[in-house]
Amino acid sequence: MLDVSRRERALPSHDDPQRVPRARHGRAPDVFRPGAWTPMREYRDDDEVDFAIVGTGAGGGTLACKLAEAGFSVVALDAGPYWRPLEDFASDEEEQSKLYWTDERIVDGDNPLQLGSNNSGKSVGGSTVHFAMVSLRFRPAWFKARSLLGYGADWPLDWREMWDYYGEVEQALRISGPVSYPWGPKRPRYPYRPHELNAAAKVLAVGAEALGIKWTPTPLATVSAPRGASPPCVYRGFCVLGCATNAKQSALITWLPRALRAGAEIRDLAMVGRVETGRDGLVTGVHYLREGRWRYQKAKNVVVAGYAIETPRLLLMSANPQFPDGLANSSGLVGRYLTVQGNQAVWGTMEQEIRSYKGPPSLAITEHWNYEDNGKDFFGGYAYMSQGPLPALWGRTLADAHGLWGDALVDEMTRYNHSVGLKIVGEYMPQQRNGVTLTDEKDQYGLPIPRVSYSWCDNDKRMNAHALAFMGRALEAAGARDIWEQTDDTCHLNGTARMGSDPRSSVVDADCRSWDIPNLWICDGSVFPTVGGVNPSLTIQAIACRTSDRIKQLAARGELASPPRRRALAAV
Ligand SMILES: Cc1cc2nc3c(=O)[nH]c(=O)nc-3n(C[C@H](O)[C@H](O)[C@H](O)COP(=O)(O)OP(=O)(O)OC[C@H]3O[C@@H](n4cnc5c(N)ncnc54)[C@H](O)[C@@H]3O)c2cc1C
Ligand code: SF4
Repeated sequence: MLDVSRRERALPSHDDPQRVPRARHGRAPDVFRPGAWTPMREYRDDDEVDFAIVGTGAGGGTLACKLAEAGFSVVALDAGPYWRPLEDFASDEEEQSKLYWTDERIVDGDNPLQLGSNNSGKSVGGSTVHFAMVSLRFRPAWFKARSLLGYGADWPLDWREMWDYYGEVEQALRISGPVSYPWGPKRPRYPYRPHELNAAAKVLAVGAEALGIKWTPTPLATVSAPRGASPPCVYRGFCVLGCATNAKQSALITWLPRALRAGAEIRDLAMVGRVETGRDGLVTGVHYLREGRWRYQKAKNVVVAGYAIETPRLLLMSANPQFPDGLANSSGLVGRYLTVQGNQAVWGTMEQEIRSYKGPPSLAITEHWNYEDNGKDFFGGYAYMSQGPLPALWGRTLADAHGLWGDALVDEMTRYNHSVGLKIVGEYMPQQRNGVTLTDEKDQYGLPIPRVSYSWCDNDKRMNAHALAFMGRALEAAGARDIWEQTDDTCHLNGTARMGSDPRSSVVDADCRSWDIPNLWICDGSVFPTVGGVNPSLTIQAIACRTSDRIKQLAARGELASPPRRRALAAV
């Protein structure tokens, strides 16, 4: 182990993690102890590491851990800062917007997406640093949505295999959830007991029971009892702004400390602008900007895990004469099939005080319309959950979605403690026309700004309408009055480098390996061919665990750096 004490004394105690990298000089922040450091192995740029991983969120952070633990040399780069939650996170909505990816993006289409806070993070740990912790498995049939349910596309994965990987992630994050889950095939008991319901969750329960459907406490990635250096959740409700107590089991405090212990290097404030390829068509490393200087990290394999906008953007930006349309793009599908999820809500006012901001935002859930196909006029499904918006977000919601301003807005804000809501995570259809392309405009790194285009299809609109009507009835049955609908919200980005079993209609195979370049991998939300009606992070992490196992198997068989398979196929 490295002795870091002398270096520790040499560095200033007040640092700015958004300006100066913290993970360097052989050490990284110890996220569990104020001011403390943990030893970190460092590689030189000209060390040809086994894996350079771009992004340290749900996909990249998990994979960095698992590959390092398997004995591979790993450098994981992230454009974001290395936060110390115990010291850097404030109970302040504006201050905490520092967690979001707010770099400029151009949005268009019939239903332009709201990006920023709503969609992606820029931190070591990725979006899991400010996610809402809802940790759900896919309905098994969704892995064969085209064959079994008649829409979207089939995944090249079998649900039974995924069931095991879901179990691994639930254990790794000590998910707190109900003793038995009401929907889907049998699963093991969650490692930690469910969280207590807050009043907003009880409203969901009353409404669901009145309409005759099941509900349950939401499985969450925040601990309901102590876990090592993580104290149990204290229900302060700032989860989507970063958890200042470390109860939240983000990648920052779970997979990444494990990765460091296993010998991975994490480079914060390292923006990757290009993946390089050699004359043989294989990738050779990544160009990245850190401390004002472009550098080049050599690697035997590159994994892109920047989430569903930055991943295709990087692949497209890496175009060269050999790959003029970008890397991994012989199918033409890099950046296509961007698929978000519906996030429509109904809101109302209760006679009694609710104070829905107390506790994690979604403490109760029903997946009824994910598993029930009768009574639908649309393909796909949706879950809906109780809500707990903090005051500034609630004010913006009332202004933007409810059209209140001035005295009317102030008047409604005085009823904040009585407001209550239900919100979906709903399955939109994958459409080739939705996607990410590059513009001629440049960002602060001198890199092309991405254009993000989105339009709903008729099925998406029917799903929205079904969900809003049903949730309105549920809220009414629970006793809410002055019910109104929030109709245009979306969440979660997926699908711009989809996996499949045919190189002509997908970008990566079941192992997240690019069809075109066998030492280029993509491991994040962009590999989803369909999105299902649940939040995606558990599935992203389960896929990363599977990918690491597959890489181990391929390495054991000497198949990690074989010739490009597409060309080999063409020659047959
Ligand atoms: C407010 C909010 C609430 C959410 N709530 C939930 C929830 O309750 N449950 C759930 O399952 N999901 C939730 N999600 C979604 C979930 O967080 C994401 O789906 C998941 O984290 C995506 O994983 P990923 O690995 O694809 O990307 P991320 O976790 O976003 O990680 C990508 C990382 O890559 C880095 N990066 C990107 N491009 C580059 C580059 N060129 N160079 C260097 N670094 C780069 C970014 O800085 C980022 O850290 C929520 C998301 C948000 C924003
Ligand atoms: S409610 Fe729990 S998980 Fe959320 S910020 Fe507070 S302690 Fe963290």
